[in-house]
Amino acid sequence: MTATAPITQDVLTIPRKVPEGAKNLVGMTREAMREALIAAGTSEKQAKMRTNQLWQWVYHWGVRDFDQMTNLAKDYRKLLAENFVIELPEVVTKQVSSDGTRKYLVRIAGGHEVEIVYIPEEDRGTLCISSQVGCTLTCSFCHTGTQKLVRNLTASEIIGQVMLARDDLGEWPVPGAPKDETRLLSNIVLMGMGEPLYNFENVRDAMKIAMDGEGIALGRRRITLSTSGVVPEIARTANEIGCLLAVSFHATTDAVRDVLVPVNKKWNIETLLNALREYPKATNSERITFEYVMLKGVNDTDEDAHRLVKLLDGIPAKVNLIPFNEWPGAPYERSSNNRIRAFATILMNAGYASPIRTPRGEDIMAACGQLKSATERARKSKREIEAEAGL
Ligand code: SAH
Ligand code: SF4
Repeated sequence: MTATAPITQDVLTIPRKVPEGAKNLVGMTREAMREALIAAGTSEKQAKMRTNQLWQWVYHWGVRDFDQMTNLAKDYRKLLAENFVIELPEVVTKQVSSDGTRKYLVRIAGGHEVEIVYIPEEDRGTLCISSQVGCTLTCSFCHTGTQKLVRNLTASEIIGQVMLARDDLGEWPVPGAPKDETRLLSNIVLMGMGEPLYNFENVRDAMKIAMDGEGIALGRRRITLSTSGVVPEIARTANEIGCLLAVSFHATTDAVRDVLVPVNKKWNIETLLNALREYPKATNSERITFEYVMLKGVNDTDEDAHRLVKLLDGIPAKVNLIPFNEWPGAPYERSSNNRIRAFATILMNAGYASPIRTPRGEDIMAACGQLKSATERARKSKREIEAEAGL
């Protein structure tokens, strides 16, 4: 492929006049929408039907203007317009990598910014969304972990990321057009900024909206939630969301994992593996993904690979080897290709599928663990990062 320069676009949005106190429908679950409609004057008797209608307009058709909701009476559309808005986070910039990866920087309430990445593949397209601004955890190899500013995203801001990507991809259904089964946005991974299990309820509500068959309708197996290992919320993920699970494992001894993924000091390898052994949804067809970042001289020896095989015993698992994505000031280096291949071979010989993740969108800093708001000024120095990592 010939290398072409990435494209960056500033996206202009025109501020709209919003009725005071109007509530955003985006992010409401069915129950919340029903209650909000009743509070706005819809009769209890009609509330369920109205919720269904509105739900489909917002989440199936992607409509943003109440006047386009043609199966609702004019007066009712007026009532909706006086009480509600349908609003997504504002796209500030969009970058397109030479490999087709798209990165959006979006602004949310309070002026915070988060990043979203869309990765097109031959037979599918994956949207990597964020669950928090920054992250309270401080994994020493992760760019997001160096960001000081943190707040949880609301369910509206989480599902809004999916909706604005569908806007940009032009993927809302067109009435009357034949149903297209190949979706540009076919999968969601919660692998952007933030620890999704530290924002459980909002992530759950947003993913329930994404999975609802009368809306965006992505199957639960098309959603993967990645956690650094927040043990108390792991069983809930299976029971209340039901999506696939990925775990940022990254090390085979507590001594090394304590440094790479400091949350390990709270829930160590054994505690984490016990929780995963009991993960109600883990089966051979729904294996847990163990993410393993390859860091030169830190966690990439043959002994590590053999230890990993032993630790995985009894868990329906696959391993995803992630070549470390470097960022300015990072205290680590990526393992060599030969080392990564040797590591993968040991896992494969032990019967574990262990694909090596191809970094995508490197020219626009869109790869895993590189996401960090462009306006974040409070950069820690390399020295600070190393001190925290105990290097
Ligand atoms: N907070 C969650 C999800 C976001 S990170 C978690 O930690 O699981 C998504 C994946 O990218 C995680 O496995 C994370 O450990 C990994 N990652 C972070 N920084 C990285 C980097 N610089 N290079 C490669 N992978 C990285
Ligand atoms: Fe947070 Fe995940 Fe980055 Fe760790 S790897 S700092 S948990 S976003």
